[in-house]
Amino acid sequence: MSKKQEMYFNGEDCRFCNGMCCRYVTIDIEKEPRSEDRFDEIIWWLFNPNIKVLKNGHIWSILVMGKCENLNGSDKCAIYEARPDLCREYPPEEEGCHFDDIKRLEGTIFNTAEELLTYLAVDRRKEWAKKRLENMRKAKNLEV
Ligand code: SF4
Ligand code: SF4
Repeated sequence: MSKKQEMYFNGEDCRFCNGMCCRYVTIDIEKEPRSEDRFDEIIWWLFNPNIKVLKNGHIWSILVMGKCENLNGSDKCAIYEARPDLCREYPPEEEGCHFDDIKRLEGTIFNTAEELLTYLAVDRRKEWAKKRLENMRKAKNLEV
């Protein structure tokens, strides 16, 4: 990897980035989901292709993909002087650029309901998730 790419991937220099932090939003899910009822709602969210779910330890968030309307054709903020404080304070010094977070979080992003159910059935050994996964695959005429 070239020095330039390294800087890009480490988020050390926004000049080499396409404004990745302006291309999604995350919304924390208040309480760590545990019950089948709670996951039922998350499964429903995941049927929407613009929504992913991100798990970072005990913190679960909804990840909504989509570019901020202020990101211009040159991948720069068109309202730079008037941007929200949240953007102004990003990236936080102690955590660094989210770009790197996204890399670290790979594998804990659930893109589909099936990915989430597979995690719950296999890693968390939830019988209800196994049954729901089987039913979903049957409904989609996929091999169980
Ligand atoms: S802060 Fe945003 S624009 Fe800068 S490198 Fe990180 S993701 Fe890219
Ligand atoms: S307001 Fe500007 S800095 Fe904030 S997300 Fe949108 S384009 Fe990025």
